[in-house]
Amino acid sequence: MRETNFLIENNARHMWHPMAHPAEMQANPPHIVQAAKGVEVTDVEGKTLLDAVGGLWNVNLGYSCEPVKQAIRDQLDALPYYSTFRGTSTDTAIELSYELAEWFKTDGLTRAFFTSGGSDSVETALRLARQYHKINGQPERTKFVALKKGYHGTHFGGASVNGNANFRRNYEPLLPGVFHLAAPYSYRNPFNTTDPAEIAQAIARQFEDEIAFQGADTIAAMIMEPVLGSGGVIVPHETFMPLMRAICDRHGILLIADEVITAFGRTGAWTGSRGWGVKPDLMCTAKAITNGYFPFGAVMIAEKVAAVFEGSKGAVGSIGHGYTYSGHPVGAAAALATLKETNRLNVAANAAARGAELLAGLEDLKAKHELVGDVRGRGLMCALELVSDRKTKAGAAKDTVQKVFDTAYAEGVMIRTSGYNVIISPPLVITADDVSRIVSALDAGLTAAG
Ligand code: PLP
Repeated sequence: MRETNFLIENNARHMWHPMAHPAEMQANPPHIVQAAKGVEVTDVEGKTLLDAVGGLWNVNLGYSCEPVKQAIRDQLDALPYYSTFRGTSTDTAIELSYELAEWFKTDGLTRAFFTSGGSDSVETALRLARQYHKINGQPERTKFVALKKGYHGTHFGGASVNGNANFRRNYEPLLPGVFHLAAPYSYRNPFNTTDPAEIAQAIARQFEDEIAFQGADTIAAMIMEPVLGSGGVIVPHETFMPLMRAICDRHGILLIADEVITAFGRTGAWTGSRGWGVKPDLMCTAKAITNGYFPFGAVMIAEKVAAVFEGSKGAVGSIGHGYTYSGHPVGAAAALATLKETNRLNVAANAAARGAELLAGLEDLKAKHELVGDVRGRGLMCALELVSDRKTKAGAAKDTVQKVFDTAYAEGVMIRTSGYNVIISPPLVITADDVSRIVSALDAGLTAAG
């Protein structure tokens, strides 16, 4: 193993990080993680921390999920790679498509298109949505609708529907024909209300107005996260997604659920959409599908969409899209084992139970610390929004947020900060004791920073 100084120096010299300024690496080096076990990670200094980030919202079953590791080893021995481009397939990818169809059949999603991750899944869904309308004889339906604060990965299509300027401005011009509705965000919104049901109605009106303005016959799809993750765990009112679904239906617009974070139990339901009682037309998954052990994703496709493609004739229905690693056998094997463990451990139920405890703990922190402006969560995706002034809701200073992080780290809990939000998304297999550890580390952090 290399010396810590070697790693820090060379990280700054040779490695560019996602979502980070390359020039900051020397002054502000990252924590270097070297090993992991259960729900804990160990850094190069030998410090062990409870991972309240769950990798990056993906290690739902923790780091010691032996069946998934073994499935990967076995698949590497049997068939480390083969393509699923036209003409060939693999037994593992086929079996996974069968299992996913079983998993999602109550949502009406029975076809899978495999990808290498979340951004690929989003890109795939956007492209399939346009193609669906072309097959249907409506080639003008090319536009997309999305939510401000939404995050849909970093490919050009995904970046175009992203609702956060940080992921857009440096890469513009993005796709034309994308419009954004307000986020269903009670704490900050343009509607002069904190009532989430009223906000849902107001956004529905915005959507209808925008459709009237743009012309329904120009809109291909709406894309949304059932709970907005990277935007700060924004949990809409229960009426919100059903309202969006109804508007899409009324105007022939496809609904794409971006469930890259929320699929497979994180919100306490098996999918975020199911939790809101909605059946999307296309569903983007990735992350926890392999428990984070292999880059992989799947876009699940509704019967209605599948029927149009499968019933079409000629080039218009042929999918001119795909990735070398679509259906990668090692990823497919990892996903098969992950699905089995996810189901066996009933992690959605644990996410709901532990999530309720976590949210209650975070509410207590809000009652105790002025620094906490808002608390949000559903299942095991939660956020604290830190403010310097509760009245003006001005976001907390960078140093203050860093102090919370550093103190929690010293206390042995890895959290994630994004702007002035603290994001908590631990593995779904955590215990009630782990929840207490997270809350008390945050308490210490807020005390130190307050
Ligand atoms: N969509 C959502 C909702 C996400 O949260 C993410 C990543 O966090 C993505 C898409 C992009 O996924 P990836 O980083 O695997 O490309």
